[in-house]
Amino acid sequence: MSGIYIHIPFCKKACHYCNFHFSTQIEHINDFVDALVKEVSLQKKYLSQPVQTLYFGGGTPSLLTDAQLHKIITAIQVNFSLSPNIELTLEANPDDINFEKTKMWHDHGINRLSIGIQSFQEDALNWMNRAHTTIQSHQSIENAKKAGIDNLSIDLIYGTPHLSKEALLNDIEMLHHYQIPHVSCYALTVEEKTALYHLIKDKKIEDVDANKQAEHFEILVEQLGKIGYEHYEISNFAKPGHQSKHNSNYWKGIPYLGLGPSAHSYNIESRQWNIANNHLYIQNINKGTVPFEVENLETPTRFNEYIMISLRLLEGVNFQVIEDRFGAAYLAHTINIKDQLNNLGQLQNTQKGFCIAKEARFLADGIASEFFITD
Ligand code: SF4
Repeated sequence: MSGIYIHIPFCKKACHYCNFHFSTQIEHINDFVDALVKEVSLQKKYLSQPVQTLYFGGGTPSLLTDAQLHKIITAIQVNFSLSPNIELTLEANPDDINFEKTKMWHDHGINRLSIGIQSFQEDALNWMNRAHTTIQSHQSIENAKKAGIDNLSIDLIYGTPHLSKEALLNDIEMLHHYQIPHVSCYALTVEEKTALYHLIKDKKIEDVDANKQAEHFEILVEQLGKIGYEHYEISNFAKPGHQSKHNSNYWKGIPYLGLGPSAHSYNIESRQWNIANNHLYIQNINKGTVPFEVENLETPTRFNEYIMISLRLLEGVNFQVIEDRFGAAYLAHTINIKDQLNNLGQLQNTQKGFCIAKEARFLADGIASEFFITD
């Protein structure tokens, strides 16, 4: 099995915290779609297995018109073998979602919608410079359901200065109210080169507080658990049977092809990423070349990635997998570090290996780095 990710690099408005590749020059979207369709055909040999998941991310894929989406999906169908029960996800912003558009997505075979709600609180949305309002958030969920797309995922951002504990509980209550099957929760991180970084540095807006983020994370884990969500990955919670297949396949190391500017591809032996520049991307593709860089994945890199990903997952690290994929020396190294960290109460044993202890999940990335091998 394999997956395809398509990056739609356009947004109506720049959110202050955003570190993804996008442009607000929406007038170039047609030229981009034409180039993307050419890239689909140039990359058709990258995957050797049927495609089980197709994911439109961005940027803002919900900006695509009926004709543009049709062109892209047709190109994918012509050039790849698609699994009959494919998971077809589209990321959408609430201000783009109306009944007609959702119906159009449903007709194109989109069977999972990931809605960038981020918060049901107006002041939190303003602080982030989101393009939508809370009313649009509610309407977007209702419209998606009305059009027949029940398999919804909602993104929430926590730990922002205006988000009180009560407001976060209210956001969680909304998930319950709408019976949303999947939720991705992200602590707001302040990345350099974002507008947010400069606004905070210039003391124009309030900074984020790491303690508050840790407290919000605990509330999310506890409250979402109480209403039936399984915490299957550090940032992801799902009702039974509703885990994201696309992301789960990334975490299992299944090959995927990324199309569009800045999109990454992975085929076990190497990782490659397209140029993060819309103009140069279109120019190169029109000349018949995909502009990308590639990194061959040596054993230490693959091991570090395995540890990083596994410690973010509920099922954790599997000793047998380490021995089979990386050998006895890597297994000995893993057990040695695990024994040291066990004494700090950061890990817990599982039947097949170990995972992060519940209380230490917020620290997963830092704990993973203790296992890294650098050469
Ligand atoms: S809509 Fe998404 S991709 Fe676009 S600026 Fe906002 S966070 Fe970034």
